Amino acid sequence: MIIVMSPNSTEADLEKVKIKIKSEGLEYHLSTGTSRTIVGVIGDKKAISNLEMHCCLPGVEKTVRITEKYKLVSREFKQENSVIDVGGVKIGGSKPVVMAGPCAVESMEQLMEAAKAVSEGGAQFLRGGAFKPRTSPYDFQGMAEEGLKMLRQAADKYNLKVVTEVLDQRTVEEVAEYADILQIGARNMQNFQLLKEVGCSGRPVLLKRGLSATINEWLNAAEYIMSSGCDDVIFCERGIRTFETYTRNTLDLSAVVAVKELSHLPVIVDPSHGTGRRSMVSPMAKAAIAVGADGLIIEVHPHPEVALCDGDQSLTPAEFNRVMDEIRRMYEILRGE
Ligand code: PEP
Ligand code: MN
Repeated sequence: MIIVMSPNSTEADLEKVKIKIKSEGLEYHLSTGTSRTIVGVIGDKKAISNLEMHCCLPGVEKTVRITEKYKLVSREFKQENSVIDVGGVKIGGSKPVVMAGPCAVESMEQLMEAAKAVSEGGAQFLRGGAFKPRTSPYDFQGMAEEGLKMLRQAADKYNLKVVTEVLDQRTVEEVAEYADILQIGARNMQNFQLLKEVGCSGRPVLLKRGLSATINEWLNAAEYIMSSGCDDVIFCERGIRTFETYTRNTLDLSAVVAVKELSHLPVIVDPSHGTGRRSMVSPMAKAAIAVGADGLIIEVHPHPEVALCDGDQSLTPAEFNRVMDEIRRMYEILRGE
């Protein structure tokens, strides 16, 4: 349920509402807009009904039931787009944000080359996995903490932020120490314990769509993170499993539009995992921006032919530069400049 405070309500009115919510054993979440404050109430259904019946407190304009299971994530809860500020880089604002780098951190040399390339191309974030979710246990599993340290060092050198995957509950704290954004991979989208844990890590979370997740399941996964205390969730469409095998996944760009209708949170697109093919990354990156994505996450490797992971879908630095130029030009046209 949301409680809409009237524009002329006072701090004292809000305080009384908060006390009332707590007295019912419920939790609240404030959203302060330009003209009014909205109080999102979450918790037990019965307690919410009880609160609804006894909520004619001073300063309350109206109460509205949120019909969907996901509450804090929904547009009903917050009408304006959320802009997530990661150390000065704004995600969901007026300009698309780009995260780029190798699939996996392989060595200091590889990562430094990649960081240089993506920063010259205009990316704001360095991506790279230190913990890799591989289909086979015999494939490269990542460099773990050593990789995290390298990411931080390379990103700092080139004035980039770090986004990297956290695979496991036990390493949330460790990853949060080095990363600016914690990435939840497709395979973990419904690992609810992990979602709760990243939700209270204090870091923003990039939530990839599960391999076979519906939009509704994806939104509910974000609700797990938000209801654990994190306001800063970014969705990432990375393709889903369909009957098609030519591409690695089927990049569902309609999901970007759907999620932006249903939620106030930003949505970015991963055309690398979404297609699995280098030649398709640039066209799908442009298509993503055209449908209103708030940014992109793109795999870039200084030497894709020797990459330990996902070389076939990784762009070279020159290819990345080209895509970035095209996106910039396209974005200017879309904005009517
Ligand atoms: C990745 O970004 O490297 C990755 C493993 O992605 P996904 O979880 O989308 O497969
Ligand atoms: Mn990858």
